Amino acid sequence: MVEFKSEAALAAMRESGRVVATALAEVERAAGVGVSLRELDEVAREVLRKAGATSPFLGYRPAFAPVPFPAVICASVNDAVVHGIPTGYRLRDGDLVSIDCGAILDGWAGDAAVSFTVGPPRPEDRRLIDTARRALEAGIAAAVVGNRTGDIAHAIGTVSRAAGYGLLDGYGGHGIGRRMHEDPHLPNEGRPGRGFPLKPGLVLAIEPMLIAGGTDTHTTDPDGWTLRTTDGTRAAHVEHTVAITPTGPRILTLP
Ligand code: MG
Ligand code: MG
Repeated sequence: MVEFKSEAALAAMRESGRVVATALAEVERAAGVGVSLRELDEVAREVLRKAGATSPFLGYRPAFAPVPFPAVICASVNDAVVHGIPTGYRLRDGDLVSIDCGAILDGWAGDAAVSFTVGPPRPEDRRLIDTARRALEAGIAAAVVGNRTGDIAHAIGTVSRAAGYGLLDGYGGHGIGRRMHEDPHLPNEGRPGRGFPLKPGLVLAIEPMLIAGGTDTHTTDPDGWTLRTTDGTRAAHVEHTVAITPTGPRILTLP
């Protein structure tokens, strides 16, 4: 079932989104050579704790998962696309890192992700990350009243494919509200004019997941969570929580 949010609910979601944005910014700032993924998780935990927010990630256990998720961020490095568990792995110069974070504040969820490199990016990583951001921007631009989810999906897919990248098959964005994952599902590739109609009060997490090598497939680590590219190439994942409003898309996960 799809729930449409009131203006008061959108204002509350803006605050949870701000907590997510702050956590992501602090994690990115802390991410340097020799810093472990677990230490990055601690940084995000502290931001959530100070804000009085809880984590929708911590303890999350969907049907596919062998164990509850043990952290408040997903940390996916290099060929890991999404859902990476923060381990004791210490970052190296040139690593491509995708951090996904959620927060629940006053009962409302926010969800966002960023990709960045440790140290200066290689040209190919710069291009991959820039394209993921452009795909997200194109998806957000299509998140307007009168469009459908297929228009957002088409916008994301067009930017990504034009650059020659793959899109993680079977994964995409989602409705979000009191729970992190709500209907409708939002694919990262689709046909314009199809799918769920966008109306004021609908809130979507829009999240392109790009694979440098152009393939769409993944393998799952023995931990049951971390998804890696089958071709071994690097991946990028960026995400914003976005409200559809009469005056256009409103990004709720900005600082
Ligand atoms: Mg997310
Ligand atoms: Mg999400």
